[in-house]
Amino acid sequence: MTGSIARASDSEGDLAARRHMLLASRNRLQSLRVPGNVAVMFESLTLAPTRDPHVFVSSDGRRLTPPAGWACLPPGDAGLTRRVKAAGPSWVVIEQRGRKKFSQGLWAPRENIEHARAALEAERSTETYARKREADVARRERTHAAYAVSFEHEVYSFLGFAPRWDALAREVARKVAAHATPVGSGTVARTQRIPIDERAEAAVIAWMRHQTTGYDHMKIERVAGRRREVRRELAQLSRAVIDLHRRDVPHAPHACSLCRAAA
Ligand SMILES: [Zn+2]
Repeated sequence: MTGSIARASDSEGDLAARRHMLLASRNRLQSLRVPGNVAVMFESLTLAPTRDPHVFVSSDGRRLTPPAGWACLPPGDAGLTRRVKAAGPSWVVIEQRGRKKFSQGLWAPRENIEHARAALEAERSTETYARKREADVARRERTHAAYAVSFEHEVYSFLGFAPRWDALAREVARKVAAHATPVGSGTVARTQRIPIDERAEAAVIAWMRHQTTGYDHMKIERVAGRRREVRRELAQLSRAVIDLHRRDVPHAPHACSLCRAAA
């Protein structure tokens, strides 16, 4: 009763206004009307193709044409297709040949396709970049490991110790290579300016300077060339110690700076 009283209180003007609004919204829908059915714009459908590439048939026999502003995403990128479907309405066009089904693409608002494609490309390029970086690091590590091993062999062959000092040669080679080859160490093993056969010797001498001589604790006069002179003297000393191990003559390890350093 109260409802009818309320309605009775509506003026003629109110009713007219309401009717006008209804008509206006229907006209808006009409203006959206495209060949086919306006309602299908908001549906996700599975359709069959026809001879006309822009006409498709729904399971209930409606002939539909994609709304204006829609585009066809060709099949082949499952990730992209999934995103476009998730983004809004879409029509999957499936051709049935015998028992087999073939996708002829996904129709959807062009904007949805473009957004999804851009987002996915950005993600994929980030992933690709990360994977590429990982691969680069792995390759560098492999290259470095291979270099360290070959440098160790080089040092070992440079030492040329007598058989009785073979174990010592291996240990010194390992230690020199470990000291000389870290990436970015800037040590002689990585200096391309020195011929490869001289690098082994330079690395051994440098390692011995730190490990078998008092160089690191020496007080060296601040005179031009003095430091270089000291290094040259220590290098001669080191070569003599190396030579000692190239002869098949025993000596007491505790009395030898190299034997002690490698122990
Ligand atoms: Zn020795």
